[in-house]
Amino acid sequence: CGIVGYIGPQPVVPVIIEGLRRLEYRGYDSAGIAVAGGPTALELRRAPGKLRNLESVIAANPIDGTFGIGHTRWATHGRPTEENAHPHRDCTGTLVVVHNGIVENYLALKRELTAAGHTFVTETDTEIIAHLIEQELANETGIPLEEAVRRAVHRLTGAFAIGVLSAHEPNKLVAARMGPPAVIGIGDGEFFLASDVPGILHHTRNIHFLADGELAVLTPDGVALYDFDGNVLPLKVQRIAWDP
Ligand code: GLU
Repeated sequence: CGIVGYIGPQPVVPVIIEGLRRLEYRGYDSAGIAVAGGPTALELRRAPGKLRNLESVIAANPIDGTFGIGHTRWATHGRPTEENAHPHRDCTGTLVVVHNGIVENYLALKRELTAAGHTFVTETDTEIIAHLIEQELANETGIPLEEAVRRAVHRLTGAFAIGVLSAHEPNKLVAARMGPPAVIGIGDGEFFLASDVPGILHHTRNIHFLADGELAVLTPDGVALYDFDGNVLPLKVQRIAWDP
């Protein structure tokens, strides 16, 4: 339902939590966050219910990092439990995905991936996306995360706006859209991903609206945009004059 991702010099957890709070009006049943690049490789915190539940979990067990993604979930497949809250992980636990929308062919993909040796721990359609990307990374050693995501999205039918990060590729967020909205925020040495403008507008008014079939790679150096065939596209940054 709500997605916020961040790479930049600010403390990543407050940026993401505050962004998710500004997207709360959309409704949700659980929330979660993943941060990487900190003292430990990758940290995940999730909680059913309101964002304040997630904040309590983080307060009891703090996390830090240099980049991260968060999500507020409106469950479509799987009950609104902690286990089913996003982000979802691959088998290695080092790659995470947040997702808005529905993967229509998730059962067929789940069967295929299970036969290939993947173990699933949630009831969600989203979890298969993490395993698909893991599979693509395993199929061809050395390809970058964005290439694995690009190949994985070709396998999906349905609707998705996704944010992906890997602890093995520090300070990189990959986003892709087919259906549900997603926006990229261009700050001064900091970059944002969100499911909607109000989640990041208090940080930057320079926004690229991700179009269907676009894949974005956010790093501390900037944002690269591609279509799902890997062709480079120009960013179309708009200056947002209105307030939410
Ligand atoms: N279909 C996914 C799930 O149920 C994503 C739901 C959403 O858009 O928040 O976990």
